[in-house]
Amino acid sequence: MRIIIIGAGPGGYETAVEAAKRGLEVTLVTDGPLGGTCLNEGCIPTKTFCHYAGLIEEMKKAEALGITAAPAFDFSKVLERKQAVVQQLQDGIGMLMRNKLITVVEGHASLKDARTVIVNGEEYVGDKIIIAVGSVSASLPIPGADLPGVITSREILDLPEVPKRLAVIGGGVIGLEFASIFKSFGSEVTVLEYAPTILPRFDVDLAKRLKLALGKRGIAIETAAQVTGIYKVDGGLSVTYLTKNGEAAVEADKVLMAVGRRANLDALNLSDMGIEFTRRGITVDANMQTNVPGVYAVGDVLGQMMLAHAATFQGLRALNHICGEADSIDFAVIPAAVFTMPEAATVGMTEEEAKEKGMAIKCLKSMFRANGKAVSMDDTEGFCKLIVAEEDGRLLGCHLFGPHSADIVQEIAALLNKRATLAELQSVIHAHPTLGEVIQSAAHSA
Ligand code: NAD
Repeated sequence: MRIIIIGAGPGGYETAVEAAKRGLEVTLVTDGPLGGTCLNEGCIPTKTFCHYAGLIEEMKKAEALGITAAPAFDFSKVLERKQAVVQQLQDGIGMLMRNKLITVVEGHASLKDARTVIVNGEEYVGDKIIIAVGSVSASLPIPGADLPGVITSREILDLPEVPKRLAVIGGGVIGLEFASIFKSFGSEVTVLEYAPTILPRFDVDLAKRLKLALGKRGIAIETAAQVTGIYKVDGGLSVTYLTKNGEAAVEADKVLMAVGRRANLDALNLSDMGIEFTRRGITVDANMQTNVPGVYAVGDVLGQMMLAHAATFQGLRALNHICGEADSIDFAVIPAAVFTMPEAATVGMTEEEAKEKGMAIKCLKSMFRANGKAVSMDDTEGFCKLIVAEEDGRLLGCHLFGPHSADIVQEIAALLNKRATLAELQSVIHAHPTLGEVIQSAAHSA
């Protein structure tokens, strides 16, 4: 069977590799570099920045811990290493493509029909097509949104120097990650968030506590702030916004627009093909198939969970359907992390969602300050919260922030996937001393 995949991000290239492993003949079409947004202008370069930001924060604490260091920060080296990391991983994907005999076609794809893709004027025919063309940064329809100095999450990764003052519009995942990074790099950072809390879709308790923790690091965060315009002023830009106390403004050298991403719907001639989509994204069924049989769509272009790992598993679901294989992937259990300092992570139902559904729940909490490993690391900011159904003790969700939260949350993702109960979690022995014991402590706080 021949399969054509359009897009080389985690939705596209991972699916291509898996399809090739299963003996399918795979053509991967991309008009951008291998690895897509995640590798080239998203998760990976951002995490390289995060690593540096973490080192800087560690060094700030070193003296109090008895180590005298004289840190000097060369931002050009950070940029160099970020690029080297991206290149290394991109080369790795290139090698995978060659090893798996995947045909990579560079160019912009358009769909001719449910079997045919046109690239650079040439026709490629497949038995199935998977669309994985991702998303692009969204902007606000406000005056000044296109002024020089107003940048996206892609452009902030290539700034030649650290801005003295950074204003961030949007206190979502991207906004907070860059706020946290650039605060460590030395910028004065202000975040303006429209919703009453940062990370609006996250557990409110977690969002409030994380806001306090970021505030303690000196990041100014204004919630319930409606940005009204960006204006050029002497020496920079001024971002005006409305709060319940009236109009206010913050001045900055750079303004990061981080108000979400939108599905890349313009990339293909979807309407001509009769492929159904909404303003949010392409419409698919549970097997990731569009209304046109044989054409599938996965990842950010669906406008649902814009997460690299969600895209990868959606691709796997599509492939399983194509190959006639059943799977037990549970799309209700998708862990997500926010790589701020401290780091935050979430999986499953929030307290608010459970209450909206009228479920009787209990919330079990523990604090990193009572965790021996966190104390040894001098990294005790944070908490962990488990959501448990009163009725049958079923685990419903976990929300935490603190050191290595993104790794810790995986345990609960596995348990949610297996529909485990609190009693089952309580009987799992956790190694001591580990940060993962925050889960055990929360579970035993019942
Ligand atoms: P987001 O939806 O997470 O956050 C956007 C924020 O902007 C929201 O909090 C929203 O309330 C706010 N906003 C919207 N309009 C506003 C306005 N007029 N004024 C002020 N604030 C406004 O989107 P994002 O942070 O841009 O990220 C895009 C996608 O990429 C998300 O789906 C995110 O999950 C994903 N992503 C994930 C990771 C990760 O997993 N670590 C990292 C980066 C991005």
